[in-house]
Amino acid sequence: MVSAVLQTSFLGDMILTTPLIERLAREGEVHVVATPANAAVLANHPAVASVIVYDKRNADAGVAGLRRVAARLRATGATTAYMAQGSWRTAALARMAGVPSVGFDTSAGRWLYSRQVAYRKDWHHAQRLWALASDPRDPTGPLRPSLFPSAADTSQVSALLHEAGAISGEPLIALAPGSVWATKRWPSYDALASGLVAQLPDARVVVLGAAGDAPLASAISAAVQQRGGPPIIDATGKLSLLGSAALLSRCVVLVTNDSAPLHLASAMNTPTIALFGPTVPGMGFGPLADRRVVLGRDQLTCRPCSAHGGQACPLGHWKCMRDVEPSVVAEQVVRAAVSTQ
Ligand code: SF4
Repeated sequence: MVSAVLQTSFLGDMILTTPLIERLAREGEVHVVATPANAAVLANHPAVASVIVYDKRNADAGVAGLRRVAARLRATGATTAYMAQGSWRTAALARMAGVPSVGFDTSAGRWLYSRQVAYRKDWHHAQRLWALASDPRDPTGPLRPSLFPSAADTSQVSALLHEAGAISGEPLIALAPGSVWATKRWPSYDALASGLVAQLPDARVVVLGAAGDAPLASAISAAVQQRGGPPIIDATGKLSLLGSAALLSRCVVLVTNDSAPLHLASAMNTPTIALFGPTVPGMGFGPLADRRVVLGRDQLTCRPCSAHGGQACPLGHWKCMRDVEPSVVAEQVVRAAVSTQ
């Protein structure tokens, strides 16, 4: 059997699609249609036969691009396309390639699908995706996402830690303060890091993120320095996606917003403390590491207020994030760090 998986959403969605890909790979080749950014995260994955890059906003924009990618999809010989992303555009892509498609009954492109599967709001998204290829009466599958950093990714991390003077055996506490959605960014990472100086004097803080998150890393660095703590390791903008995954595999815990690093940590089974504000884990995107804690203001009736989290709080007070206390998060960090020693 040859299958295709079409996933052109956000990075987190791509990571959560890997259990489905592994499920299909048990029965044959799996070819994945992915955006250029998401293609990078599938490098070295043993369940992926090939990645067809679909640069839908640039090189492959428009009908000509759609036709080009459809021809590549048809050439794989796939007999079923699993629609992990539900737009009309990806549905049209499968239709143009002549590959019968299976997707959710809530997707925008569902009218073009050959078969529709119930979208279970009450399931984790990894489970929903996994169920596209499974008997709905037996939906339980292995939900842990999987990523495979290369030797080069691991070397990149070793070089970064060496340059930062990290000592072997020193507990690394990862913080991922960024998010493209402003309301998802917990504003107290600097206060958390500052408080940890006294509570975990032997630990080093590592800040993960994109180059645009460097100012957040600088604020954390300043807070730690003010308390006389060891210099933080600023990894923002310095690692590939799989390099970030490799770094997370060396950390005792990650503190993150509801954003891509949460899913990288799930794949590497790094203990995770996830801070949810305008979104809630019940939407299907919570952490999947064995050791995980979700913190948020459960009693706020305005939560969740949007599917992704907006750029400004519609009520103006932003209590869902502002009221998450650094001391409460620090307590969980200490617990995680101590339990791994
Ligand atoms: S409306 Fe509520 S959930 Fe949404 S951003 Fe504001 S405080 Fe957070």
